[in-house]
Amino acid sequence: MTTKEVLIEVKELEKHFKVGKGRVLRAIDGLTFSIYKGETLGLVGESGCGKSTVGRTMFQLYSPTRGQILFENENLHAKMSKTNAKKYRKKMQMIFQDPYSSLNPRLTVEEIIAEGLLIHQPDMTKEQRRKQVTDLLEQVGLNRKHADRYPHEFSGGQRQRIGIARALSVNPDFIVADEPIAALDVSIQAQIVNLLKQLQEEKGLTYLFIAHDLSMVKHISDRIAVMYLGKMVELSDSENLYDKPLHPYTEALLSAIPLPDPNLERQRKRIILKGDVPSPTDIPAGCRFYSRCPKAMDICARKEPSWIEVEEKHYVACHLYE
Ligand code: SF4
Repeated sequence: MTTKEVLIEVKELEKHFKVGKGRVLRAIDGLTFSIYKGETLGLVGESGCGKSTVGRTMFQLYSPTRGQILFENENLHAKMSKTNAKKYRKKMQMIFQDPYSSLNPRLTVEEIIAEGLLIHQPDMTKEQRRKQVTDLLEQVGLNRKHADRYPHEFSGGQRQRIGIARALSVNPDFIVADEPIAALDVSIQAQIVNLLKQLQEEKGLTYLFIAHDLSMVKHISDRIAVMYLGKMVELSDSENLYDKPLHPYTEALLSAIPLPDPNLERQRKRIILKGDVPSPTDIPAGCRFYSRCPKAMDICARKEPSWIEVEEKHYVACHLYE
């Protein structure tokens, strides 16, 4: 539930990587947005658009090249005291895409979940830690019997539940979920999304939910941001984005979602985009989507569109709306 109190503010964020021979990969190229307490912001775009880099920079795995990330008004990447750095590290956690490789295969489930507790609550007794691990396992739909087993003994969905329990162990306020369902069977994806929603309601969590398509994001997100080649191209309430997409790239992503009704599915007109995404080491002038846009105009090749609010809280960067 959204309380409209800002938890995180991202201001003019840039993250560039040097990739040799003087070339620079512009993974994030100027992003400004906020995430409100208790909401889920979905961040969607094709592979290579920079969305995972956004999550990793917010989680402090990368330092920004330029710009700021403010968490409760504190600049996360400014030099802070060790105590403050630890405090903010505890407030945010990350759930990774691949539940197969993100869990240490040599540790039992109990050891994996207890790692955060050992760091952040070193005074806990062994019994208290055991009890806490059992509670966390139950909260994610597993049980005490699972604590002594190793990750390879679990299915993909169960491993993702273990990853969620690990993230919850330090009682965070904010979770970056980086494509948490992309590696799972479709039948399991809804279960994990429902679990994340339920935990959000119970604990008042705030999520950045990263995904490469728009199919599942609607079910969890309050608002959705669409990214293309390091920039945000559209941001809106979830319902509005699905009902009235503005940007031609969002329209193409939406047209790719299969419809459950077979009659509607037969009539669905998929927008096939021509060409490939340009390289983030060689970003074109004008609108970044120009080479693939079915609605491109002359101006689009010359001038980068501005970020404008077309209707209340519905933002887009496209010359069609200027
Ligand atoms: Fe297409 Fe032009 Fe809009 Fe870019 S600015 S999305 S090229 S219409």
